[in-house]
Amino acid sequence: MNKIELQKIKEKALEEHIPIIMDDTLEVIQRILEERKPNKILEIGTAVGYSAICFSEFLSENGKIDTIERDLDRVKQARENIKLTEVEGKINIYEGDAVEILPTLNETYDIVFIDAAKGKYPFFLKEAMRMINKNGIIIADNVLYKGYVMGDYNKHKQRTAVRNLREYIKEITENENIETEILEVGDGLAISKIK
Ligand code: SAH
Ligand code: MG
Repeated sequence: MNKIELQKIKEKALEEHIPIIMDDTLEVIQRILEERKPNKILEIGTAVGYSAICFSEFLSENGKIDTIERDLDRVKQARENIKLTEVEGKINIYEGDAVEILPTLNETYDIVFIDAAKGKYPFFLKEAMRMINKNGIIIADNVLYKGYVMGDYNKHKQRTAVRNLREYIKEITENENIETEILEVGDGLAISKIK
């Protein structure tokens, strides 16, 4: 992998205010991936490919990442970035809305990373649970959403997102087949191990 190109991609994304994964969040996920050496990762929310490119280093031999993005400009940039960093063959991008694409997938995954529309997290969880391997891990970014999720925050245009994030957290903490840890890194990271 070309680390110099990766650094440039990160800087450009930050300049353009694309919400790429934060450094502390990335560190936590990389530690998990290092330990697991996953064969298949599913990512919901590619943006310009930064996180997927970072994760690709930790795949097992012949491992693959499927990642979904609905913004076609970002898909285009992600494809270019994947070439620049020389990780083609490891990352497959599905173009379109994850709400439509997920139900068409019939794969199994060792890791699912949810990092897209917050209002859809409960749906993404349902689809992730359908495809996750036993002992797999579902990781969700931005679950604390700037503190709104834990506060008494109801009167805002983002209240649908907040309500759905709360529902997501409720499900992962109450489901007996899921063991969850929520970390205050980045914008809140939920790590759910599937029993
Ligand atoms: N994982 C990336 C950042 C993703 S930002 C990284 O860390 O580098 C979230 C992305 O999810 C945005 O690009 C947005 O267009 C996309 N997105 C949001 N809702 C989506 C949906 N329902 N289906 C597909 N993509 C979605
Ligand atoms: Mg995020």
